[in-house]
Amino acid sequence: MAICRSHHLYKYLRNAKYTSQLLIRPLKDDTFIQRNYRAIASCVFQDKPIPKQINCNVGKQGSFRCFSVSSIHDSEASEEVKGKSSSKTKGKSLLELQPNDFVDFLKEKGIHRCYIVYDKRDGQVKVSHPELEEFAEFVKADHIDYDQHEGVFMQVGRRSGCLLGAFVWRTNRGQACGGIRLWDYPRMDKYLRDGLRLGQGMGVKSALAGLWNGGGIGIVSEPRERKHLLPDFRTLVFNDYGGFITSLNGCYVAAEDVGLNVSDLDNVHMFTRYTTCISEDKGGSGNPSVATGKGVICAMEGALDFLEMGTLAGKSVAIQGAGNVSTVIVEGLLKKKVASIYVTDCHMNRVEDMKHKFHPKHSKVLTVEKVPLDDTSVLAYPCDIVSPCALGNVLNKYTIPTINARIVCGAANNQLGSPADNQLMKDRDITYIVDYLANRMGIVNCANENYGRLPDDPAIGRHFGREWENSIFVMTKRILQKAADDNITAVEAANSIADKLSRELHPIWPNRSQQIIHALIDNEWHLQH
Ligand code: NAD
Repeated sequence: MAICRSHHLYKYLRNAKYTSQLLIRPLKDDTFIQRNYRAIASCVFQDKPIPKQINCNVGKQGSFRCFSVSSIHDSEASEEVKGKSSSKTKGKSLLELQPNDFVDFLKEKGIHRCYIVYDKRDGQVKVSHPELEEFAEFVKADHIDYDQHEGVFMQVGRRSGCLLGAFVWRTNRGQACGGIRLWDYPRMDKYLRDGLRLGQGMGVKSALAGLWNGGGIGIVSEPRERKHLLPDFRTLVFNDYGGFITSLNGCYVAAEDVGLNVSDLDNVHMFTRYTTCISEDKGGSGNPSVATGKGVICAMEGALDFLEMGTLAGKSVAIQGAGNVSTVIVEGLLKKKVASIYVTDCHMNRVEDMKHKFHPKHSKVLTVEKVPLDDTSVLAYPCDIVSPCALGNVLNKYTIPTINARIVCGAANNQLGSPADNQLMKDRDITYIVDYLANRMGIVNCANENYGRLPDDPAIGRHFGREWENSIFVMTKRILQKAADDNITAVEAANSIADKLSRELHPIWPNRSQQIIHALIDNEWHLQH
């Protein structure tokens, strides 16, 4: 039997050895416990079903009671689950396992946390457990996505049982920053590759934007039966994630990526200070789409200026997607007096929303059309600028030959697939503005949340100007100039500039995150619960 004060609850439960046999009895007026009942209960019951209610007893003032009760759970059922998972993981390479099966594997081995790190001190890739040696071999052999990433940390969510990952690329410029992605991966190799690629992508984006951030990404693998769609379960997933990155001591700072919304980040924030993109009423930066749209327009202007094509006035622009960013771009283009805008979207409601916002006043300039999901004809539209603002991987060997525009510049992430596609764009004399340059404002908007905010914040505004050496306009021209001078693709030019910038050391905290990672390893982070 134990009695403890409410603020010690989590600590107590985490340290309790037989947590599945505890019953909580909160004070009736303890609103913290009442509000957070499910999170607390799941902490106790971990991945087992959470009972619908807990018997409440009024205890002594300021205290509640946790005491042992027998057979809350059906132990046979738990064994059955264990048995099932064994057959799924048996005889398979870890890389072939679906992430939820990998979680089962970890549980069978009694592993709660694990890592893959590149230790610069001896130039070795190390894994936390001998059972995971396959991962070390995998990253060493991967010459596309792996780039001596400083650390890949994984944990099984205490409450949700989800696989939580934090991928840290290079932290010379500061803490690794990047969104958390919630995604369904068929296999662990795809999970790892995506994290490595995205973490590096965030690093070069931040470096090019002049942010004092390193590159990182968080990846949560979707749970079985799409349980993340249940609001209560979803809360647990992101509470788990908050606890997970707290344990990483700030070498990775989270933000929003695909599959998350601001309230998910608020749930992460409940358990950590190492996140951005929280809601505005908690001091967050709010929706980044307006800044992102403005940034894309600056990149278009930089490209036109470099090509000596003048300004946006009188130009024609085709946009794929009529979503949040696209709406801001259309608004900006109309203000800049473009001659025509053609927009497509595969969802009728998005098409209607855009028409509703801009028609009939701009009907002569703006055409919006609904197209089938696989219709890429907008990319072939004869115009000055094509702007992919829907999905990634739209510029490929099938679509590039159809492009009729001189410039491609949009907000979508990962528009180009392979180096061969970069070359194809160059061969066709199409000026491609690297996506991570044009859409940087998503991360810029939330990057410096903890430094406070100003009206018309110069920390944001300088990205839209033409004076600062890292502004979108200036950087667009610099990249295109380098590509022309060195006879390389715009992507190669951007990567080369960004890579150099990413190696600069933070002026106040040089190597801080690397020190944190070393300390995590030296202090056996992977064995702590
Ligand atoms: P959004 O979801 O609001 O808009 C995307 C639109 O594309 C939707 O209306 C969707 O119906 C449409 N679409 C999807 N598939 C399509 C297809 N095959 N053909 C035509 N239309 C299609 O997203 P958003 O916030 O406007 O972001 C747009 C893109 O920019 C995304 O790729 C996003 O990852 C990227 N991005 C956004 C931000 C930001 O601040 N919102 C920052 C960086 C990058």
